[in-house]
Order: sequence, then C-alpha cells, then structure tokens
Amino acid sequence: MSAAGPPQGAKAPSGGSDPHEMGERGGPIYCGRFAPSPTGLLHAGSLAAALASWLDARAHGGTWLVRMEDTDTPRCLPGADTAILQQLSALGLVPDETPLYQSKRSAHYELALAGLLAQNQAYPCTCTRSDIERVLRASGSQRPRHGELVYPGTCRHRRFDLPSPPDCVISANQAIRLRTTGLAPIHWLDRRLGAQQQNVATEVGDFVLRRADGLWAYQLAVVVDDAAQGITHVVRGQDLADNTARQILLQQQLGLPTPHYLHVPLVLGADGHKLSKQNGAQALDVGQPLTALNAAARVLALPAQLGSATDALTTWTHIWADAWAANPPATA
Ligand SMILES: [Zn+2]
Repeated sequence: MSAAGPPQGAKAPSGGSDPHEMGERGGPIYCGRFAPSPTGLLHAGSLAAALASWLDARAHGGTWLVRMEDTDTPRCLPGADTAILQQLSALGLVPDETPLYQSKRSAHYELALAGLLAQNQAYPCTCTRSDIERVLRASGSQRPRHGELVYPGTCRHRRFDLPSPPDCVISANQAIRLRTTGLAPIHWLDRRLGAQQQNVATEVGDFVLRRADGLWAYQLAVVVDDAAQGITHVVRGQDLADNTARQILLQQQLGLPTPHYLHVPLVLGADGHKLSKQNGAQALDVGQPLTALNAAARVLALPAQLGSATDALTTWTHIWADAWAANPPATA
C-alpha cells in the first residue's frame, strides 16, 4: 500500500483523486477497513459496522483490513484488541492483512503534523475549555455543536516556528489546531445519506490535531492511516458522518486522496441513543455466530438467514452486491 496522493492542492469535487482508478491487473482497486477502538469487546452496534464494511469489501471483490484505533491509550483496555480479533474471527470476519495499530504510528502522524506546521496550516494553542467558553460568551456566540464549541480563533495569530508573545509560551502543554479560515465549504456524497456539506471554518472552527496532553486527535490519525493503508471505501456507523468534512479537509491539506464514504444505520440502545457501553451494550456473544450476525444484518436491512454463518455471509454478500449494482450511487 502506498501513501502517495495527488499533488498538494489537487482538488476533485469530493476532495481528492478518484479512488476508483484501475489497479495493475485492470480491475478497480477496493480497500476497506473496520476500525474499532480497543476500549472493550465488540457489541451489537460495533458488529453492524464491521459486517457492513466486510460485506462491502467482499461485494466489490476488494480487500478488508482491520485497524485498531488505540491512540487514546488511557481509555484502551489491555487485551481488548486480541479479544476483538477473536470475536471477528469467530464470526467469519477475518482481515486480509495484519491489523494496524495506531499506537505504533506516531512517527507518521508527527510527519504529517510537521508538514502542516511548516506551511503554517496549523498552529499551537494553549486555550483551555473555559478560556474558549469565556471568549465565546464575551462575543455573544455561545453555540454548542454536538457538545463541542466552535473554536473562536484566539491563538490563530500564532506560528509554530516564530517566537510567541509572552502570553503564548510554546510548551509541551499545547494543542495543535488546523487553520480552517478561508477554506472552502466541503461537499461530499455519502453513498447512503446522499449529498452532504459542511463549512468546517464556521461550523466547527480550527480543530485539534494533537491534544495538549500529547495524544493524537482522531481526525489526524484516521486521515493519515486511511491514506497509508490505501483505503478507497470507508464504511462506518452514521454517528461518524459528522467527522467526514473535517477528514476531507485534512486530506486536501495533506495532499491525500479522498475515499468514498458510506455511513450505515446505528444500533440504538433502550434510551434511543447509539448503542454503547454507556447505555448497556453487552459484549457480543460469539458462541452463536449466526444469532449475532442475524442481529447485525437486521440493522443493515438484510434478511435473516438459517444454516451456517458462512452461508449467511455468502448470501448477504450477493444481496449487497446486487443492491449496489442495481442502484449505483451517483459520483460526486
Ligand atoms: Zn488557543
């Protein structure tokens, strides 16, 4: 897999080169991934996303990879990565290559960040959450967005490589933010949700690439790794759709290709929110593989199967392929 993307600044409508370019053997390249955080075992919700990405890869005759999103090391559970792989394997979902661990990829994230800093596309920020709230309150624009605040740009004047004003001492205790002002709104086409758009500069603001505690932000790690793994198709839960514009923006700033995106329905907990460990998701029982797979398939509007898990996966792969062949998503 190559991390090479189009030249810096190259922009297709979806933000990068066409991931449907032909492979060496003449067929379209397809590479998908399932990217769990090893903060616990798989539950019904995470299996639906895993199954969707596996089926999409198989239906396209492509490659399916697993990536452990373990950058948030304090939240990771020792051994959860192995347990997740065992759960997937018991269900017949086996990655085509050795899983990638984000915790071992710091050097690659450093390199991407250094490039952005060198071009002044990113800058250091020492604002605390209460600093940000105070500035927003003073300007009368206290608009929470999914619980996050639009960064008011307090540190935007700073450069990483220049001496800072005395009140902005560069230290290890600083976050790095992407400069989003002046960047055009992002338009993208989700294969299920349709045309999407977001003005990251006004709706999110300059977002964090590396946190003040030194941990890598999800957005940077995902974008660097999707490119490094040659991911052409991202298939994941709808709760992550909101991150897509930020990721496309970062791909553009880093000169990386933009994959196709498909956000699949979520499994909801009893409280109507996305099923998670916080609202009672149970670790998946893989002792009855077909039962677990049928539950995930129901979320994806696939018919329940009898017989073996292997046969069910084969049947769903055909249904999935036929559905997309009969109703191909328009290209952006
Ligand atoms: Zn700041």
